[in-house]
Amino acid sequence: MDDILIVGGGIGGLTLGLALHAAGIPCRIFESAAEVRPIGVGINLLPHATKELAALGLEPALAKIAIETRDATFFNRFGQLIYQEPLGRAAGYEQPQFSIHRGDLQMALLDAFRTRAGADRVVTNHHCIGVEQDSSGVSVHFSDGPGGANRTTVRGRAAIACDGINSAVRKQFFPDEGEPRYSGINMWRGVTRWPPMLSGASMVRAGWMSHGKMVIYPIRAAGADGLQLVNWVAEIETPVYRKRDWNRPGSIDDFIGPFSDWHFDWLDVPAFIRAADSVLEFPMIDQDPLPRWSFDRVTLLGDAAHPMVPRGSNGAGQAILDARTLTSALLEHADPAAALAAYEKQRLEATTRIVLTNRSNPPDAILREVFERTHDKPFAAIDDVISRDELVAFSEGYKRIAGYSKEALRG
Ligand SMILES: Cc1cc2nc3c(=O)[nH]c(=O)nc-3n(C[C@H](O)[C@H](O)[C@H](O)COP(=O)(O)OP(=O)(O)OC[C@H]3O[C@@H](n4cnc5c(N)ncnc54)[C@H](O)[C@@H]3O)c2cc1C
Repeated sequence: MDDILIVGGGIGGLTLGLALHAAGIPCRIFESAAEVRPIGVGINLLPHATKELAALGLEPALAKIAIETRDATFFNRFGQLIYQEPLGRAAGYEQPQFSIHRGDLQMALLDAFRTRAGADRVVTNHHCIGVEQDSSGVSVHFSDGPGGANRTTVRGRAAIACDGINSAVRKQFFPDEGEPRYSGINMWRGVTRWPPMLSGASMVRAGWMSHGKMVIYPIRAAGADGLQLVNWVAEIETPVYRKRDWNRPGSIDDFIGPFSDWHFDWLDVPAFIRAADSVLEFPMIDQDPLPRWSFDRVTLLGDAAHPMVPRGSNGAGQAILDARTLTSALLEHADPAAALAAYEKQRLEATTRIVLTNRSNPPDAILREVFERTHDKPFAAIDDVISRDELVAFSEGYKRIAGYSKEALRG
């Protein structure tokens, strides 16, 4: 009855569980899936997120399974270098930037939570179908999996909806919200086993979305065969897309056309795409920021609260920051409704700015700028197109808005 009920055992829910447990606040995590399996492809954890995970004692475990990303490197679609900057510790941060398989991250968080809080604190096969509350607590109603016939109700002190972009709780509070906002860009995501390229820990962005853009970065260290697991995303402007589903298989022939002549000295892109283990298709979508997340003893966290287009490597990180802020608020306020209101006050405006900036001026705006100034032609020298100072200003501007400038993290 005194538990905080966490709905959803993804990145946000598990981090919240770990943070609450560390603060001595009892909680339980209810996950829709019958079993938590390592699903997904790559995710980035920027220094503001790794700082929070380090505070939870997780950095050594993550360092073993992630790639410590060293640089961001931007090319045009002719393979010409536009800009490179160091990242994470290589850039002088106290914290690393990690690129990691989402499944590896989720399993590391789950293992840590089960070990620390007890395996019975994660309850699977519990798909939330609604919440109710009164002055003494909250009741969360579950079915056994999506569409399941068996119903149970669990009572707790507060309920935190960490149930991702298809959040059932968000739908309950905002029934008229409508479909997500399609950005006009469709994505094909995959992983390929490939020898290290560039620094071996580079985050590459190349091309521009009207003609095809690629994001490429390694997420697992090379094994005995010398091959890293390398995550990639192809992004193409198109009115054609299919409903969001994290696990929808994609077809290489649907998107390889624009990349067919991308033979660079640092990577043969078509060969790299064709060597993929698997391909998934997902529309680039988000939702308009909400006016509120907290309703007395119930609130939203992570993608349930602020789904954003993945152009700032920031979705998982913002869920992790939410978890820390909410934990502090619950420690500070005995009344859960006051805590949830304080959490919303700290995080809603900050994440709204990021959702909107990800639409207009995320880090890949550098590519748009060069694409427009060169009219999509090769350049003789990048300095003729754009100055180093302008490039740095683009990059630093985003870091400030997303909350991971070096000054902010030192504070
Ligand atoms: C299967 C899957 C694959 C993904 N793959 C990628 C990827 O490759 N790259 C990337 O950048 N991001 C991926 N994401 C999204 C990424 O994890 C989030 O954007 C980010 O980490 C924020 O985390 P979150 O905890 O808010 O949401 P999520 O990590 O999406 O977690 C939501 C959790 O809630 C559970 N859930 C959903 N509905 C209910 C319900 N009604 N009741 C109970 N539990 C529920 C889900 O099963 C999931 O475990 C994926 C998400 C999922 C669910």
